[in-house]
Amino acid sequence: MPIVYPHKTAMPCRDPQERRRSWDEVAEGYTVERAIAEARRCLVCQDPVCEQGCPVNVPIRDFVRHVALGDFGGAAAAIRRRNLLPAICGRVCPVEHQCELRCVLFPHQDPVGIGRLERFVADWERSHGNGGETAAAEVWRDQKIAIVGSGPAGLTAASDLAQLGYPVTVFEALHAFGGVLRYGIPQYRLPKEIVDEDVAHLKALGVEFVRDVIIGKTVTIEQLIDELGYSAVFVGTGAGSPIFMNVPGENLKGIYSANEFLTRVNLMHAYSFPEYDTPIRQPRRAAIIGAGDTAMDAARCSVRLGAEEAHIVYRRSEREKGARAEDYERAREEGVIFDWLTVPTRFLGDDNGWVRGIECIRTELGEPDESGRRRPVPVPGSEFTMEADVVVIALGTNPNPLVPKTTQGLDVDRHGCIVADEQTGATSREGVYAGGDIVTGAATVILAMGAGRRAATAVHEYLQQRAAEKGGRDEQHDTPESGGRDGARQAGRHG
Ligand code: FAD
Ligand code: SF4
Repeated sequence: MPIVYPHKTAMPCRDPQERRRSWDEVAEGYTVERAIAEARRCLVCQDPVCEQGCPVNVPIRDFVRHVALGDFGGAAAAIRRRNLLPAICGRVCPVEHQCELRCVLFPHQDPVGIGRLERFVADWERSHGNGGETAAAEVWRDQKIAIVGSGPAGLTAASDLAQLGYPVTVFEALHAFGGVLRYGIPQYRLPKEIVDEDVAHLKALGVEFVRDVIIGKTVTIEQLIDELGYSAVFVGTGAGSPIFMNVPGENLKGIYSANEFLTRVNLMHAYSFPEYDTPIRQPRRAAIIGAGDTAMDAARCSVRLGAEEAHIVYRRSEREKGARAEDYERAREEGVIFDWLTVPTRFLGDDNGWVRGIECIRTELGEPDESGRRRPVPVPGSEFTMEADVVVIALGTNPNPLVPKTTQGLDVDRHGCIVADEQTGATSREGVYAGGDIVTGAATVILAMGAGRRAATAVHEYLQQRAAEKGGRDEQHDTPESGGRDGARQAGRHG
């Protein structure tokens, strides 16, 4: 039995004071020596239970063993078999609730740092010039497939279907691709060059990307199928519709939904003024309402935008916060102030309609509610006012309603999520599949990727079956020149 050091090998991070005003990546990643030391903590279990915690079934034991042996190329190949976006997942996956939670070392010792090792391998692969190269399809098929939304669900479905030889077109409402990876998660956690590289790999596979197309407005799902000749559609439109508090004053200037605030900062580079002239109110004293991942991102962005104080205002206690422990700790290090057990009751404005403060009341925790967390109960007489010139409402999001509203016969549940089979992503409309946040509500990158992968398999089976019913195999060609790709290009122009 090898000696297993009880603690994870530390991940070097930039100094908190320095990073308060910098958008560069906070975590610096493992060196070769640290990666090998961490990988050697793995027991190479006969039954690697950690893998059961990974929604896309990355062969964790095998890739970690390759790292321990210094074979980083072998590790990268093992990961690539199951995960299209390892540099992204290695940075943002909530591993503490997934693979690392299952690791046999835990809870007596720290689990193996699977996420850190995945990031190390992906970065090693990128720096050695072969990041993400995926085998091109061996056959090319004629049936065109439309992917709606370019978040992790859509990108994964697109990759798998392109590798099966289908002409795939991704339609994206925004002017840049990646979904939340692009517009939500800030640069200091996930450098956008990584998202660019992953999109570029898909383009190299032949996937067509069409931006600035809102499906449901510019063109409907019906039109994609009936007029533009798509044989199947995968909907991965996410959950980007913000939830508000509905308290007086919420429409004052300077109050943003987290999605709007983060989109202005990340997608539209509000931090790079005057190179980009995206307007955003420069915070002096920011208040972020909520305590999930999105709230931490908004608070840490406020700090980087120059706020003297950035407060997280949350109606429950520290224990109930939704944010990942790592991001919470980094927010604390960067000076974010936490006002637990506090709920806003009204936003106060100045004569010009800008927010200037928040009326709040303290709470205490009562019995658990339907979410299982203890319900916050206002404490009479504890009202107070706090100053704030920027407020960000980060209370969660609902599914984007446009596609369900404009697609006949597409069933949704009471939360507005598209109803889709968990294993296949099949919806109530034949030929229309869905996955990711639009089905589950706001969740995680890796869950969205898993849904995209399962749906891609199901779409392939559906199209093969349809072709068989028509009395023949689906149309296949040996090379791109003989047909398949041209269909995709044509579709892109239509989009
Ligand atoms: P999305 O990523 O939302 O992508 C959907 C795409 O569809 C978007 O690009 C959207 O513009 C496009 N679209 C929508 N409607 C249309 C339409 N009608 N026509 C065309 N295109 C359309 N998860 C983690 O695992 N780790 C984290 O650290 C993490 N941090 C997060 C931080 C923030 C600020 C947010 C908001 C979420 C975070 N998440 C995190 C959650 C995670 O990002 C999502 O669960 C995941 O991105 C969902 O993927 P998706 O493909 O379903 O949708
Ligand atoms: Fe290694 Fe932990 Fe997985 Fe076992 S459960 S193979 S120790 S990472």
